[in-house]
Amino acid sequence: MQTQILGLLPPLMALFFAATFTALWRAGRLKRHVLGFAIAYVLSAIGFLITHFLPADALYTFHTTQLFYATASAVILAAACERAGQRLHLGSMTFVYLLTAAVLAITISVSNDVAPRLIIVNMGYGVMFAMGVTTLLTARRRELIDLAVIAVMAFQAADFLIRPTLTLLFERSIPAEIYRDSIYYSVIGLVLGIKGVTTALVLIGATIAEWTTALRESSEQDLLTGLHNRGSFEQTMRKLLPRAQMERRALSLVVADIDHFKQVNDIWGHQAGDQAIAAFGELVGKMVRGCDTSGRIGGEEFCIAVWNCETGPAVRLAERIRQAFASLEHSGLNDDIRLTASFGVATARDGETYEQLFARADEALYRAKTNGRDRVVNAEERRLDPASARPQSELIELKRAAAER
Ligand code: GH3
Ligand code: MG
Ligand code: MG
Repeated sequence: MQTQILGLLPPLMALFFAATFTALWRAGRLKRHVLGFAIAYVLSAIGFLITHFLPADALYTFHTTQLFYATASAVILAAACERAGQRLHLGSMTFVYLLTAAVLAITISVSNDVAPRLIIVNMGYGVMFAMGVTTLLTARRRELIDLAVIAVMAFQAADFLIRPTLTLLFERSIPAEIYRDSIYYSVIGLVLGIKGVTTALVLIGATIAEWTTALRESSEQDLLTGLHNRGSFEQTMRKLLPRAQMERRALSLVVADIDHFKQVNDIWGHQAGDQAIAAFGELVGKMVRGCDTSGRIGGEEFCIAVWNCETGPAVRLAERIRQAFASLEHSGLNDDIRLTASFGVATARDGETYEQLFARADEALYRAKTNGRDRVVNAEERRLDPASARPQSELIELKRAAAER
């Protein structure tokens, strides 16, 4: 009876976490990856319930639970990757699952020993989590909570890859009939519990962090520059894009990022950095037309939606802003110091979403950065003139200023 009740604890915990994620997703109107976490916990709860209620020694029980656990793992990893702006390769996941299932079927047909099966199954999960971690590591965003998410997933991978072999060093073989009385079985109950709870708590923390960020971004204006803040800018873009298409007007996006800004903070202090951001915002505000929308979308990153404007004029606007900013004096900085910014420009294509348009403009900005900064790169023009790449003279200048200070 006591075992029966204890056995119900994991599915109930998993359902509790699923309900928590669903409630957070609904209340905060959060992105769909939060719902993905909820689905993953529902799937694992089903897996636990099957283990609990179906005959322990039946092969179909084993296969069905594995299917639910594997799907739950894939869903939680896919959601975590989506949260980080990356896409998990589901084809590779399916391949690992099918390969594991095939090797497992062969092993089961030749031996009654559970030990090799456990190693194979856990290896499969280990590889799946390792693949998820590799994808997460390619994400650009690396805040503390993102590192915590990577850490729990890496912990899962390491546990799946190492624990079975370690446990089975003590218990060389486990006949199927005594599996539930084995050391392995009692260890796995404990480890799964700890892992499940730790992972859920970190993901709940990440979700709450996202919610508070969303709340912060929801007030429309950026206090430092008076431009739209990120949320408001994105919202405007999502309205402008379909309107531009309907009215058959061109809509260009300029993305700008101040160069070597970290050094500005490091050398002259955060307040001087703030002043430079405000100055850039003021410049942008003055140089765009009333029908354009400009926003500060990150620390020293800006976006301008240039309405009814083809790529050529949008590039020229970015060039004018670049030149004006490069000649601006900054009160908190040494008199002879000028800051620069890099720009990426893209023009919306038919049916393009804001994310796609932004990604192209951002990629152009990235090229502007890697080709020497203080320049405008047009996303519509793939070819780069290598002769135009300049040395990073502004970096040298900043370092000189730091030395003189
Ligand atoms: P890059 O030329 O590659 O853009 O170099 P960077 O140093 O500008 O690179 P990065 O984007 O990594 O650095 C941005 C820095 O901006 C990091 C952060 O400390 C600073 N920052 C972000 N928000 C603010 C802000 O509101 N005020 C100030 N003063 N600094 C900020
Ligand atoms: Mg920068
Ligand atoms: Mg930046």
